[in-house]
Amino acid sequence: MKAAVMHDVNDIVFEEVPKPSPKKGELLVRIRSTRVCSTDVNMYRGRMPGAFLPRILGHEPAGEVVELGQEVSGFKPGDRVAIDPLVYCGKCYFCRIGMNNLCENGGLMGREANGSFAEYAIITPERAVKISDRLSFDVACFAETVGSVYRSQCKARLLRSGASVLILGLGSAGMIQTQFAKLAGANPVIGVSRSRWKLDLALQLGADVVIDANKEDTAEALRKLTPHGGADVVIEAAGVPATIQQSYHLVRPGGEIIQYGIGPSSVDNINTYLQYYKELTIYGVRAFTYSEFCISTKFLEDQSIKIEPIITHKFPLKQTVEGLELSEKQPGKGLGIVINS
Ligand SMILES: [Zn+2]
Ligand SMILES: [Zn+2]
Repeated sequence: MKAAVMHDVNDIVFEEVPKPSPKKGELLVRIRSTRVCSTDVNMYRGRMPGAFLPRILGHEPAGEVVELGQEVSGFKPGDRVAIDPLVYCGKCYFCRIGMNNLCENGGLMGREANGSFAEYAIITPERAVKISDRLSFDVACFAETVGSVYRSQCKARLLRSGASVLILGLGSAGMIQTQFAKLAGANPVIGVSRSRWKLDLALQLGADVVIDANKEDTAEALRKLTPHGGADVVIEAAGVPATIQQSYHLVRPGGEIIQYGIGPSSVDNINTYLQYYKELTIYGVRAFTYSEFCISTKFLEDQSIKIEPIITHKFPLKQTVEGLELSEKQPGKGLGIVINS
């Protein structure tokens, strides 16, 4: 089969590799679509350790079941599936308390095991979630992002009808955060970005107000929109030091910060005094549980979360590297980038 194989940092080669065959308890899936994630880019650039090389990256896939290993039931060739990329044991303390996202023996497809920038991939059946014919593979491969955004908003106690919600960063996740905040009845939902076209898209997807951080001071613009010294909930969805620092200043006293973006391992000048003084609640979020992944496919099936407008680029498998490189361009030229196998 063809695959985009990472041999070293900055070195991914489109090449022929042996087609895997499913062992006992495994499924072989013909991959159709994989969303490019910043985690892929971070591994490709050597910013994130973990991949044992050579490795096929890609962990946000959807495709079709083609072959069942022995003792697999509940699937047949031709079943369309979204794939939960989290590998977990089901036996450790965290799996048993319903937090398989924190599994002690866990891993990620496309990092600890081969991923989906390939024509085929092997998965275990408990990680395949069937989807209907109505849902395209290009949309279904966003189930991972939708699942983690859904998890992040479920944590926030104040994120409910009438809450003011400020979203810092309008990448694919920020656009999905915007839509979930509107579904929860938040008002106003305020999107912040430096890209005019992303602000326009956020408005189209339900944001009530947007702030162009290139032209306006975010804190000053926010003061006019929220009467009590900031937003009830700030969602940091950019994962860069500047917005991580800002979120402490933009949230109101007693408010909540959802730290969704994955930033560098340490950020200078975070005013931790504000956490005490304003009595802030800060939520960390890591991926999603299996049940949240299943729920996320429902949001995609009934189109209450819209993905088509977020997809800006599709590349064939042989252009995987172009997809990765486009996704790291600053200012952002692409939003949802999909690799078609
Ligand atoms: Zn990802
Ligand atoms: Zn576990």
